[in-house]
Amino acid sequence: MTGGAWLIKGCTQAEESKTALESVPRWQPAYARLEAEGLLEARIARAYEIMEKCELCPRRCGVNRRSGEKGFCRAPEKAMVYSHSPHFGEELPLVGQGGSGTIFFSNCNLRCVFCQNWPIAHQGWGREVSDEQLAEMMLDLQQNGCHNINLVTPTHVMPNILSATRIALKNGLRLPLCYNTSGYERVEIIRLLDGIVDIYLPDLKFMDGTEAERYNLAAAADYPALAQEGIIEMHRQVGDLVTDEGGIALRGLMVRHMVMPNRVAGTREFVWWVAENLSRDTYINIMAQYRVEFKAFEYEKIARAITSEEFVEAMEWAKQAGLTNLDLRSLAQLEIHRRRIS
Ligand code: SF4
Repeated sequence: MTGGAWLIKGCTQAEESKTALESVPRWQPAYARLEAEGLLEARIARAYEIMEKCELCPRRCGVNRRSGEKGFCRAPEKAMVYSHSPHFGEELPLVGQGGSGTIFFSNCNLRCVFCQNWPIAHQGWGREVSDEQLAEMMLDLQQNGCHNINLVTPTHVMPNILSATRIALKNGLRLPLCYNTSGYERVEIIRLLDGIVDIYLPDLKFMDGTEAERYNLAAAADYPALAQEGIIEMHRQVGDLVTDEGGIALRGLMVRHMVMPNRVAGTREFVWWVAENLSRDTYINIMAQYRVEFKAFEYEKIARAITSEEFVEAMEWAKQAGLTNLDLRSLAQLEIHRRRIS
């Protein structure tokens, strides 16, 4: 795929962006092409079949969620949604001027002890919605001028998302899907999304299994290996980030990594892993936003904020690894932290 094939008219206002996206005949979301090929319906059927003996994530609980059983994530058959709204705090290529159309799903298949969304992810705040209602939310976000459908914590509700996307497509959805995942994925499931998702936005939280095990409520020691395998597959599907002329994300991989106190996230290993296994042009957001949330105060090494020195060294490692596409806000944070310690 060449970047030029995806370029659309630039935009200066949310409404203009929306109009531009709708008016360019060459660009269409991946799921629209799959539907035109007659292949989307079968993917949805396969996804719901997996939910009947649930193996949607590495927990592989084997419960039949379609008959009311619940596994580790506690998710029911229907999707549960906490909120859907334009979000202006995401990465700038997702936000533009119209916002990223976030849908926050309740529950989580990973459940970290430092979770910043713990009322939603751990305690399941939200309400059940049908696939038709979920489709209406997607269309509502498009109507409001958002640039994408940003599916926050989608792994355990992937079948519902695919079904809702097909319903919304028939009613005019044209926005790219952004799969905003913790990274705790099975590569076999990510392969099912090939040709459906345009933008992958995974975390890569830990590079060491011992640290991943220590800071997860259910000891996900396999997190680093599985997240890395999944991200390589995501990159194979969508490649590096491609934007329109206004800088709005259309397709590609964007990876998040949050710097944690005492180097427990393995940031140096992370940046070199990206350089050697993806592409040095991968969009990378090294985040400075760690705070002591949920149960983190019970764990000595992560019971404090990061220092300016820790963030500056993390960004310098990224530059030493030759990463060329660092998030603009993280670069601004670098300057702030540099000044604090100079
Ligand atoms: S999605 Fe939920 S029920 Fe299914 S395997 Fe994962 S944790 Fe278990």
